[in-house]
Amino acid sequence: MDRTNRHTRRNFIKLSALTTGVFSIGKFSAFASPKAEKPIVVSTWRNPDANAAAWKVLQAKGYALDAVEQGAHVPEANPKDTSVGYGGLPDREGLVTLDASIMDEKSNCGSVAFVQGYKHPISIARAVMEKTPHVMLVGKGAQQFAAAQGFKKGNLLTKESEKAWKEWLKKSEYKPYHNPGQHDTIGILALDANGKLCGACTTSGMAFKMHGRVGDSPIIGAGLYVDGEVGAATATGVGEEMIRIAGSHTIVELMRHGRSPQEACEEAIKRLISKRGEEKAKELSVAFLALSVTGEVGAYSTNNVFEYTQTTQREQVVIKSDSYFK
Ligand code: ASP
Repeated sequence: MDRTNRHTRRNFIKLSALTTGVFSIGKFSAFASPKAEKPIVVSTWRNPDANAAAWKVLQAKGYALDAVEQGAHVPEANPKDTSVGYGGLPDREGLVTLDASIMDEKSNCGSVAFVQGYKHPISIARAVMEKTPHVMLVGKGAQQFAAAQGFKKGNLLTKESEKAWKEWLKKSEYKPYHNPGQHDTIGILALDANGKLCGACTTSGMAFKMHGRVGDSPIIGAGLYVDGEVGAATATGVGEEMIRIAGSHTIVELMRHGRSPQEACEEAIKRLISKRGEEKAKELSVAFLALSVTGEVGAYSTNNVFEYTQTTQREQVVIKSDSYFK
């Protein structure tokens, strides 16, 4: 497979002129050089509204941690997003269980896993980071903590998600497959005007997973990792694969040793594929997104479906990621 020039050719979809705040969608191609910019926010998949919420904070010279939290709130609250928060597809028992993690520029971190009944697990994760001596709370304990912190409880299963689950029950066949058209699990990384780099990741996990299953998103080093002196990385796709290679930490570590974010993402994906074997890996959708502390972006995925949203002062664009399998 000839992958010559694969770092440079990307497809861009321009989403907005940030100066006017009007979203206009027009397609164009470009040869992108990984230009370093600050402030900047990048998120997995097509998440323009999440980036816009984060950008509001960044533009006002706010803190990257607030930016990623605000950004993550958007898909968490949207009932049409079927892979995160409210409206997320449930597990095999018909229960929506959420995972999330957040990290700041000093590598402080907080995470929650297997949380039910709360729309904004990212904010519970932030509260774990800021208000407890711990990093991770799961299940009932996380819910008790959320209640004590005053987070509002609610039902997260929408009629549409329930219908999809009932439909799934007819065959009860689990395939860790992503429908890119509907995919919104968000990993979001931001570098603010003061050079602070933070990240967040939030998901309802794989649709129709086993009850109790936890993916990569709340596992520090798998679905998210931030080192404010080096860079940040986040992941989306079949979480079991990212956990196996501690994917996000691996990428930041590679960047520490001199790889660009792009090179680091590619190396992580190749490592994952070499462990799985090409045949099996072909069926698995896994993608990484990375941002260096200088504002350079990298992305790479197993298959040809991953895209990410990038916002800078100049523009907001959705960029099709390069991939191992074309
Ligand atoms: N990585 C998430 C998980 O395995 C799912 C996703 O990205 O959609 O739970």
